[in-house]
Amino acid sequence: MKYLAITTLGLAAALYTAPLFAQGQQDFSKIQVQVSDLGHNTYMLDGVGGNPGGNVTIAVGTNGVIMVDAQFAPMHDKLKAAIAKITNQPVKYLINTHYHGDHTGGNAAFGREGAIIVAQENVKKRLLNPQPGANGQTPPPAPAEAIPAQVYRDKTAVSIGGRTAQIGHLPNAHTDGDSYVYFPEANVLATGDLNGAQRNYTNPDIRGGGGITGIIAGFDTVIKVANDQTKVVPGHGPLASKADLVATRAVLVKIRDRVQKMKAAGMTEDQVVAAKPAADVQAQRHADDMVSDRFVRLVYETVK
Ligand SMILES: [Zn+2]
Repeated sequence: MKYLAITTLGLAAALYTAPLFAQGQQDFSKIQVQVSDLGHNTYMLDGVGGNPGGNVTIAVGTNGVIMVDAQFAPMHDKLKAAIAKITNQPVKYLINTHYHGDHTGGNAAFGREGAIIVAQENVKKRLLNPQPGANGQTPPPAPAEAIPAQVYRDKTAVSIGGRTAQIGHLPNAHTDGDSYVYFPEANVLATGDLNGAQRNYTNPDIRGGGGITGIIAGFDTVIKVANDQTKVVPGHGPLASKADLVATRAVLVKIRDRVQKMKAAGMTEDQVVAAKPAADVQAQRHADDMVSDRFVRLVYETVK
């Protein structure tokens, strides 16, 4: 999700529906897929010229491709063409880091072409039974071919010729179905929107089962999986490192601690927002008051 788009929408509450707006309004024909070689036949695919959805990671094996996330649905043909320039192997597994449409939009088309969709079990539940969005509208259930055929609860792995993806659940973090995906040979870690980007904050999707406690626990998990050489593919934006994860976690903890204290002291949500507990980190996170206030509210509502 693009931060500028959120700000210019002037609707912080539209955070989770923003990808839908973005999909509905924008001209995907202008978007070009950008490929970054991460080594060991592993690549990050992003887009320029518009908002393609979340980052995609692919690991190429001897008899197929493991793919992480699939952007918005209209990006399918472009993603497929970009992958075809790298390898003639088919996408055998498509792993969803979470259920949001800017990461699962391509499920149906890749699924129809034979990709086995893998996700934490809550992703399947949410794609089958979508909740009303912030705009009050309930999206239609995803088509059958978009539904994960292979689900897991805590941890799993998928392998194709020479490549393995280690997948772990990050409970009640950005959503209740978050997965990290780690490719050990390439030392590449895809975090999904737990680590949305090195900008702003990680917002919990409360309707989607997310919360600040799980987000910080999720950071603890991925920081343990990573080492100093790990290439971290965030949910959006440029490639990151373990140090970036550590820095983001520190900001989230700082704000969480302050909000927790104020809430425990009996302050209302509006009083806590007015106290500006993100003021000293806001510039560092490239956030404005609206973005910070929205995050503070989400922390207040989900802090234990
Ligand atoms: Zn998301």
